[in-house]
Amino acid sequence: MTVLVIAEHDHATVKPATLNTVTAGIACQSGDVHVLVAGANAAEAAAQAARIAGVAKVIAADSAALTDNLAENVAAQVLAIAGNYSHILFPATANGKNVAPRVAAKLDVAQISDITKVVSPDTFERPIYAGNAIATVQSADATKVITVRTTGFDAAAKEGGSAAIENAQGVADSGKSSFVGREVTKSARPELTAAKIIVSGGRALGSAEKFQEVMAPLADKLNAGLGASRAAVDAGYAPNDLQVGQTGKIVAPQLYIAAGISGAIQHLAGMKDSKVIVAINKDPEAPIFSVADYGLEADLFTAVPELVKAL
Ligand SMILES: Cc1cc2nc3c(=O)[nH]c(=O)nc-3n(C[C@H](O)[C@H](O)[C@H](O)COP(=O)(O)OP(=O)(O)OC[C@H]3O[C@@H](n4cnc5c(N)ncnc54)[C@H](O)[C@@H]3O)c2cc1C
Repeated sequence: MTVLVIAEHDHATVKPATLNTVTAGIACQSGDVHVLVAGANAAEAAAQAARIAGVAKVIAADSAALTDNLAENVAAQVLAIAGNYSHILFPATANGKNVAPRVAAKLDVAQISDITKVVSPDTFERPIYAGNAIATVQSADATKVITVRTTGFDAAAKEGGSAAIENAQGVADSGKSSFVGREVTKSARPELTAAKIIVSGGRALGSAEKFQEVMAPLADKLNAGLGASRAAVDAGYAPNDLQVGQTGKIVAPQLYIAAGISGAIQHLAGMKDSKVIVAINKDPEAPIFSVADYGLEADLFTAVPELVKAL
C-alpha cells in the first residue's frame, strides 16, 4: 500500500515541516509516498511538493472551502482519498494536530501521535512523560493515522524530485465551521520551528522591556528566532507563540542559547534535541547546565550584551 503525507502549506509555499514528514513517510517502507496539497489556488504549492525528493505523486485538491484551512474541511478532503492508503501522516504542527484526530475518528482507528522513529511499518517510537521515556507503539489498525514530530526526522531534499501531479475533486464546505479572522504576529525573525539558531530568555529577564532590550539584539545579530520559557511567557515578558517546551514549541535548531532559564524538564522537552546548546545562568547548579554543550556561569545582563558586542 501507499503512504499519504498531508502537506503543511500556505497555498503558495510548502512549509518545511512537510519535508520532515516525507522522510517519516519514506521510513514507513510501505510503498510510494504521495503528498496531498489541499488548498485554494494552491498550484504553486503543489508544484513545490512535486519537487521534493522521494515523493512519487502529488494529489492537488483545490476548493474555495480549503482557503482558510478549516479542520473540518481539510479532514473531509483527506477522508475522500484515505481508502487508497495504508499510512496517513501529518506533521505534528497546530494544523496537523487539528486535522489528524478527526481523520482517525472517522476511520475508526487509533491515532499514533508525535512519532520520532519508525521501527517497522506498524511499529513506532514516541516520547512520553515530557520526553523522559520513549514508548514503542505497535498498531494493528488497517490504516495508520500518524502525527510526526518533525524534529525526529531529517528534512527530505526540497529539490530533486519530479512527481506527477494529479488533480482531485476539492470538497465542498462542510458548513460546520466558518472562518472569522486571523491575528498573525508579524516578525522579521525566522519562525521558531524553522530557525537554525534560537536564543531564548527566561524569568530572569524580569520584564517585557528587559526581554526585548537584552534578548532581541542577540537574536538580530545571529539572525536567530526568539524563544522564551513558560515562566517568561506567563509573566508577560514574551508573547505566547515564543514559548518553547512541552506545552510550547518543540525545536531542534543547530544552536540554542538559553539565557536565564533554569532548565525545568518541561522546557528541556522542547529543546534538548538541539545540536549545540549554550546556557547562560548565574546558578552553577541550574539543571540547564546538564544538557548544555557550553555553559557560562554569569549574570545575563552583563554576558548577553558582551556577546552582542563581540559578535
Ligand atoms: C504541565 C506543565 C507544562 C509546562 N510546560 C512548559 C513549557 O512548555 N516550557 C517551559 O519553559 N516551561 C514549562 N513549564 C514550566 C516549567 O516547569 C518551569 O516553571 C519553567 O520552565 C521555568 O522557567 P524559567 O527557567 O524561565 O524560570 P526559573 O525556573 O525561575 O529560572 C530562572 C533561572 O534564571 C537564573 N537567573 C536569575 N537571574 C539571572 C541572571 N541575572 N543572569 C543569569 N541567570 C539568572 C536562575 O538561576 C534560574 O536558573 C511547564 C510546567 C508544567 C507543570
